[in-house]
Amino acid sequence: MAYLTQKSDHEFPQEDIQYLAKEARDYCFSREMVYKDSNGKEQHIPFTLYPSPFPKRLFSTAREVQTFFNILVHKASQDYQFTKNALSSTISADQFTAKLFQIYEKVWEQGAAQVSKLNNECHSRTKTDAMDENNNGLCIKQVEINTIALGGIAFSCLIPEMHRYLLELIEQKSKSLNRQKLHVPLNPALDEAADGLIKAWELYGSERAVIMFVIQPDEINVYDQKHLEYRVHERNGMEIAVAYFRAGYTPKDYPTENEWSARLTIELSRCIKCPTVAHQLMGTKKMQQVMSNPGVLERFLPDKESVDRVRKTFTGLYSLDPGPVGDHNMEYCLQRTDRCVLKPQREGGGNNIYGEDIRHTLLNDSKNRTQYIVMDLIQPEMNRNVIVREEYTNVHTVDVIPELGIVGIFLSRGDEVLVNKEGGYLIRTKAATQGDGGVYAGRAAFDSPYMG
Ligand code: ADP
Ligand code: MG
Ligand code: MG
Repeated sequence: MAYLTQKSDHEFPQEDIQYLAKEARDYCFSREMVYKDSNGKEQHIPFTLYPSPFPKRLFSTAREVQTFFNILVHKASQDYQFTKNALSSTISADQFTAKLFQIYEKVWEQGAAQVSKLNNECHSRTKTDAMDENNNGLCIKQVEINTIALGGIAFSCLIPEMHRYLLELIEQKSKSLNRQKLHVPLNPALDEAADGLIKAWELYGSERAVIMFVIQPDEINVYDQKHLEYRVHERNGMEIAVAYFRAGYTPKDYPTENEWSARLTIELSRCIKCPTVAHQLMGTKKMQQVMSNPGVLERFLPDKESVDRVRKTFTGLYSLDPGPVGDHNMEYCLQRTDRCVLKPQREGGGNNIYGEDIRHTLLNDSKNRTQYIVMDLIQPEMNRNVIVREEYTNVHTVDVIPELGIVGIFLSRGDEVLVNKEGGYLIRTKAATQGDGGVYAGRAAFDSPYMG
């Protein structure tokens, strides 16, 4: 179908777009694809009307490197000296990362003193976000690694089903039979995530023990978590086998010392953490930059092939550490603010700094520059699509950029890797005019890939 594979040649007439958007909105409400707005009112999730064309080869490449990323995150997180060196300049300017690191350090001290290996058990899911970039042929470039609180897993499995349904409607309307829907792959991410949690629960080895979901009190993305909760069964009892964090990634989740103390208690307990504080620290933007330094991949990955394949996904990443290299990188960034992004150690979208704001930030507060890293802007090709949000009364075809996330499932006991796999995908698509692309920050929409 032309509109899916080419750019703007064959866009749908406006009345067909409105018809499809209405059908899709009804579909969302009837399948519980909803979240709560800040007043507690239920809204359908933001979504794209069509799946985004995604070259099969790049999709496979992103899936294939995921298990290498799982290993990289895990091995690096086990290396105390490496982690300490990597994060030291960030810690001096960023209190949140410093607090997480304090917990990491306490766990490490205890682990070193303990004979028992159980303390080192961890369970984690990693997600690597990537954009494809048309630069010397198609390739994918990593945006970031997320190691805590992956939102949207449930919806990312329901969206391909909705897109398949909408493609059927289009087929009926155009009275053609061309099986477009089969080009949208189904997504196993929800089952994979549930399986991962259940495997961790089994590994803990106590029938009485439960899986604990750590959530935010004012969470708006309630139903995404509920879908997963129902999938892993509810069980009684109080002993915690698995602590699954859907909170704890932002300073707002730790309003007092009590929350920090609770995090430390969980971290020092026998329960399996998803993620451990060590894995969470590997998801910082600083660590992303350090991992691109010469020799780091070689240190943690098993062979040349895995090193090369992971390195290929990196774009330019630059440290702002004190000293001549940091000074040089700051100058580099100030000279090309339109082609860089300044990233702080924060999660959830909406925190990055672009364009002229980079200059103000770096020049006004240069002594705290180490709380950021600099990254080259990835400039992917644009697609055309319709973004549907509850509050949009009229929807239109606009330029969009999709971002692919691959879910990694990883379970280990001490040095023994028990599960290391790729487990489904998330695609979030933003209007090309937006900088950051968080779904709940009001900037992106759930999407699925089309591999025609
Ligand atoms: P967060 O942890 O807040 O999600 P990200 O690194 O994913 O942080 O940045 C948020 C968004 O900003 C991304 O989803 C992407 O749309 C955009 N972005 C981040 N880094 C880059 C980059 N190097 N080039 C282009 N866009 C980027
Ligand atoms: Mg993130
Ligand atoms: Mg992100």
